[in-house]
Amino acid sequence: MKIYNTLTRKKEEFKPIEEGKVRMYVCGPTVYNYIHIGNARPMIVFDTVRRYMEYAGYEVNYVSNFTDVDDKIIKAANEEGVTSDEISKRYIEECKKDMRDLNVLEATKHPLATEEIPGMIEMISTLIDKGFAYNKNGTVYYRTRKFSNYGQLSRKNIDDLEAGHRSILVAGEEEKEDPLDFVLWKPKKPGEPYWESPWGQGRPGWHIECSVMSKRYLGDTIDIHAGGEDLIFPHHSNEIAQSEAANGVKFSNYWMHNGFLNIDNKKMSKSLGNFFTVRDISKKYDLQVLRFFMLSAHYRSPINFSADLMEAAKNGLVRIITAVEKLDGIIPSLEEREMNESEKGLLTDLENLRIKFNSSMEDDFNTADAISAIFEMVKLANVNIDEKSSKEFAVKIKDTIVLLSDVLGIITEKEQEILDEDIEKMIEDRQNARKNKDFAKADEIRNSLLEMGIILEDTREGVKWKRA
Ligand code: AMP
Ligand code: ZN
Repeated sequence: MKIYNTLTRKKEEFKPIEEGKVRMYVCGPTVYNYIHIGNARPMIVFDTVRRYMEYAGYEVNYVSNFTDVDDKIIKAANEEGVTSDEISKRYIEECKKDMRDLNVLEATKHPLATEEIPGMIEMISTLIDKGFAYNKNGTVYYRTRKFSNYGQLSRKNIDDLEAGHRSILVAGEEEKEDPLDFVLWKPKKPGEPYWESPWGQGRPGWHIECSVMSKRYLGDTIDIHAGGEDLIFPHHSNEIAQSEAANGVKFSNYWMHNGFLNIDNKKMSKSLGNFFTVRDISKKYDLQVLRFFMLSAHYRSPINFSADLMEAAKNGLVRIITAVEKLDGIIPSLEEREMNESEKGLLTDLENLRIKFNSSMEDDFNTADAISAIFEMVKLANVNIDEKSSKEFAVKIKDTIVLLSDVLGIITEKEQEILDEDIEKMIEDRQNARKNKDFAKADEIRNSLLEMGIILEDTREGVKWKRA
């Protein structure tokens, strides 16, 4: 499996730290509003990376945080006249709802920054002890120049950064030793949430959160750290500086970054006001369409959001779902015979398409090509399956399409909710069949129920049933 590593700017063979296991950290959203579809891009693409790795046999420990203490959250709370806690809790729930509707799997752990303050205080203390950080009147800064590899991930020259920084010194940070130094801990301001610390009451800076949560849940060195490409600098560069200075070992072996979701060729962002929330889109489309749209491009390429491309994604998705529905409709009536030679030949074609799917995904997660392999399978099914096909042949094609779609997080078959009253009606029909000595029909109904996961038990008090 090859992954493009931002650290080396090369595609590299993936070698996990521990055989068969992946430790992966994805920077999550700051929760002060509904997420926009730009924020949804890393969620979808890295969920797909995780799903593919699981399909390839890895056990993935997937950690993704929520940043629930931040200036923007405090501002939103003040505007509404509620606590920051209320704002962050509300939007974490809303974000989780969007993630479910996008069929993004729950992370193994979704840590919250506010629940990890002791770990942050510990890491900051270690950085101070090692001379990588210093306290100036309750603000703790990281001594950026002391970390010699600072420009490695961003490929930025530290002296160019210095020139840029001199002109944009943040108010209140004049006492820094060097304009490049960044904040690890800041003192509280009136009306803001705060925690006790050795440097006085205050709150952590943004970058320290991820270093600490990654260490706590995944260990000092992890396999993959991921996020949008805007995080390369400064966020991920600062995370590396903090973690490697504090832990004394390499932080992450692979760094993955998704390209921007643009609108009119400009990055979609809250600050530019050119955004659609995931919730806005859900009013017009099933969010599966948004997921399919995102996966139609390579995760590192920019994509321009447009109504036309969403319609194209919708049509593509419908093509797959319709094929699976048709197969589901025809399969029960197909003959249970051995496959004939022509069917066996077509299964080899199917297998080759599955190989094409796998090798596209193994090549730095080329989901666009993986989707085209699924389209070819759909075509193979549409052209070759009719009422004369063998059941085995049709089932194999259908199962492959469903499985590979699921690797991309695309649901092709909605589980049908079987209502209690439908079950009871079928049991009544079975009792009537038995009364009429039509045992074949009674058995058939019992088997149909079994296929739906309903188990019957004939007792002295009558028929009882339960869901398997
Ligand atoms: P934020 O809440 O701004 O910290 O962003 C959360 C995640 O969404 C980060 O990984 C960002 O890089 C990513 N992100 C934000 N805007 C976009 C965009 N327009 N396109 C792609 N990714 C984005
Ligand atoms: Zn982060």
